Amino acid sequence: MIKRRIFEEEHDMFRDSVRKWIAAEVAPHAESWRQNKHVSKEAWKSAGDNGFLAMFADEKYGGMGLDDFRFDMVLNEELGKVESSFFITLHNRIVAPYLQKFGTDDQCDRYMPGIVSGDTILAIGMTEPGCGSDLAAIKTRAERQGNHWVINGSKTYISNGQIAGLYLIAAKTDPDNPRSIGLFWVQEGAEGFSKGQNLKKMGLQAQDTSELFFDNVKVPASDLVGDGTDGFKLMMTNLAEERLVGADGYLARAERAFEITMEFIKERKAFGKPVGTFQNSRFVMADARTKLDVGWAYLDHCAMAHIDGECTAEMAAQAKLFTSEIEGEIIDACLQLHGGAGYMEEYEISRLYVDARISRIYAGTSEIMREIIGRGLGLDDRQKG
Ligand SMILES: Cc1cc2nc3c(=O)[nH]c(=O)nc-3n(C[C@H](O)[C@H](O)[C@H](O)COP(=O)(O)OP(=O)(O)OC[C@H]3O[C@@H](n4cnc5c(N)ncnc54)[C@H](O)[C@@H]3O)c2cc1C
Repeated sequence: MIKRRIFEEEHDMFRDSVRKWIAAEVAPHAESWRQNKHVSKEAWKSAGDNGFLAMFADEKYGGMGLDDFRFDMVLNEELGKVESSFFITLHNRIVAPYLQKFGTDDQCDRYMPGIVSGDTILAIGMTEPGCGSDLAAIKTRAERQGNHWVINGSKTYISNGQIAGLYLIAAKTDPDNPRSIGLFWVQEGAEGFSKGQNLKKMGLQAQDTSELFFDNVKVPASDLVGDGTDGFKLMMTNLAEERLVGADGYLARAERAFEITMEFIKERKAFGKPVGTFQNSRFVMADARTKLDVGWAYLDHCAMAHIDGECTAEMAAQAKLFTSEIEGEIIDACLQLHGGAGYMEEYEISRLYVDARISRIYAGTSEIMREIIGRGLGLDDRQKG
């Protein structure tokens, strides 16, 4: 693996402490979480106790004031290698930034302490039964009535949907303008708000994914994020970070597949010699190593650009597209080198394989990434001429 030059001594020390925490508080419980189909709330509290939640938050909220994306990368990578269903990065870097960057002081005062301590787990609801890629087509409505907004509609495939205590919900605020979207904090237990079942999935078994229903849910005006019409813009602002976080996790999982496959093919024998000595195995692993190193180098380039405020939507889309595609390719090739064992649940590679399949779909599908990148090249069919 290439030496990753973006990390400094403090990040390496942080990595050591994250590894210790994962060894003590994550790895021993991961199988039971998979059986229960969600990560335990105790584990979230433990993450909070160890200072791993919303690390950027101000000290007055119990945070560490550490607004350095690289710490979240370290946490994400280490979790990705052991149990990628523990969606701390969704909490830390996908939802909490809406509060940090666009929330009011009052919202921060009310919500940030619980987000930092792990008492309040976050989720975000954009996708609906009728649309995911095309966010402008959402049907959930929010109507202003005096000091409240009233929300009606439904969401689906919402990560942390069962265990979350606070949801950021996207809803249309002007039926005549598809781009007029508001973002609202909705608390668990709000009247008219209900969670559907924990959806059964092919992978990410310890990650709860849910439908959400809104039946005349009254949300105080003070829980609106932004001005009630600019939700689309706010979501687009955050998507680049969301895609980089994703890319980082995909590479970590593929790296894990590489590590365990190296071990396996040195041990496993066929025709009297280790599988790893066949030319095909050498070529497969050489391709995997090359793709991984190129992936890490590009991701690190984007991460530093992001820290400097220079990562474009196209760069983040390229990172997400490339890493999710090579993750699928590498894990599939590694599973093949395991032979029949690779198909057995007791072998970790089979879990990595099913967990990885979602990477090309959520946070924007590969096709949508190609659209973003292609349009950035000036190839936009929406333009005249
Ligand atoms: C496990 C899991 C967790 C998730 N977590 C969340 C969450 O926490 N919050 C949330 O809001 N959502 C979440 N999602 C939803 C996810 O982001 C969407 O599934 C994803 O964006 C794709 O949307 P869709 O399923 O509606 O597919 P569709 O948009 O219906 O796409 C179907 C197919 O059409 C293709 N397609 C669509 N438009 C175009 C186009 N313009 N050009 C070419 N091809 C196109 C797509 O690439 C895809 O292949 C999650 C999904 C899963 C499975």
